[in-house]
Amino acid sequence: MKHAEIIAVGSELLTPFHLDTNSLFLTEELNRLGLAVIRKSIVADDRQALREAFAQALERADLVIATGGLGPTEDDLTREALADLLERRLLPNARVLDEIRERFAHRGRTMTPNNERQALVPEGAMVLPNALGTAPGLWLETRGRVVVLLPGPPGELRHVFTEQVLPQLEKRSGARRMAHRLLRVAGMSESHLDHRIAEIYKRYESVETTILATPEGIEIHLTLWSEDSAEAGRVLDELAGRITMALGEAVFSVDGETLDEVVARELQLSGATIAVAESCTGGMVSARLTNIAGSSVYFRGGVVSYSNEMKTAWVGVPAELIERHGAVSAEVAIAMATGVRRAADATLGVGITGIAGPGGGTPEKPVGTVHFSLADAAGAQERLVRFGGDRDRIRRLASQTALDMIRRYLFRARQGRG
Ligand code: AMP
Ligand code: MG
Repeated sequence: MKHAEIIAVGSELLTPFHLDTNSLFLTEELNRLGLAVIRKSIVADDRQALREAFAQALERADLVIATGGLGPTEDDLTREALADLLERRLLPNARVLDEIRERFAHRGRTMTPNNERQALVPEGAMVLPNALGTAPGLWLETRGRVVVLLPGPPGELRHVFTEQVLPQLEKRSGARRMAHRLLRVAGMSESHLDHRIAEIYKRYESVETTILATPEGIEIHLTLWSEDSAEAGRVLDELAGRITMALGEAVFSVDGETLDEVVARELQLSGATIAVAESCTGGMVSARLTNIAGSSVYFRGGVVSYSNEMKTAWVGVPAELIERHGAVSAEVAIAMATGVRRAADATLGVGITGIAGPGGGTPEKPVGTVHFSLADAAGAQERLVRFGGDRDRIRRLASQTALDMIRRYLFRARQGRG
């Protein structure tokens, strides 16, 4: 077994209101077993569409897993469509029927006739018991291929997969496994990054390297399929090491850790405390600093000093400074950082002031202009960044930049000490 396909069944998944998350769980599990997911599809509750989806998937993949459409109602057609395609009769299964009856009796409810549909099993199929719901999963084999039908509710899906499907697949999967490393990078553009590392990763032909820009940083995914997981791990670590060497401090994580987690860890290690005064990010930096359990050790507090008056009243930015340089200026960012540091009696203070837009920009200070400052006992550093994009993007990137500034500061302080 090598290739898998996933079919997510449900008309609701084709509307803007519901997301297919089951396939994400399944993909992770299948990859772990050494199975590559080569395609996934989302199919409406429609007999013909389902039949086609199964027919096509069975031509391409060794394993086809469908989720959803096993319920008791008229629109749940997965098992019917598959039985139809494979020309197998659907027979009522006495054991499943008893179990459904018991579930209803146990809850003091009466069973309606449509629930009996859930006890229909295609000839030759194996029933995969579902302790969390009335619809069991089903395992079928046809011409050397395996088809698994699983219930749609995510909790039931995970349960039946883990308890019933995983042990079967483990018996059949070969020694091939997927090894993966995730590096995260901050403070560098995607093209700049690729320019610096393309020559390095191109030399590792067996490794699939994917570079992905996200608001939480650039992700570098390194993937290697191999039967020798120790060797695969060694190759990936070597490549990750070379990339990290080339990018230096910009790499903040080599094991998938998020920036929030890295900053939390660095703060904890340093013994420093921190306070934040935010304007355009509206509390996002404080939220991210408190995302991690145990943040009370280092996070003293944060203020959203949005108006000029509150910048003065809450963090002591002199009104005449705002008057002279404007609220969006290096001077005010520094005054916010030093002011909040003092007010909170923290080791570090952070100030952020900028124009998130869409209004409020000027030729000298266009939308996307954000000033950052980080203050400690010795003074304050300051940084200006002009972000592109809409309000949401500007705010997210600004919070990312502020956290990265904190991370680099703590990292350097640690190197200095070390
Ligand atoms: P069904 O088994 O088709 O009756 O699905 C029952 C419920 O499970 C649906 O109403 C959805 O809320 C949920 N569900 C079904 N398929 C998925 C999926 N692919 N991802 C996440 N949730 C799902
Ligand atoms: Mg459904």
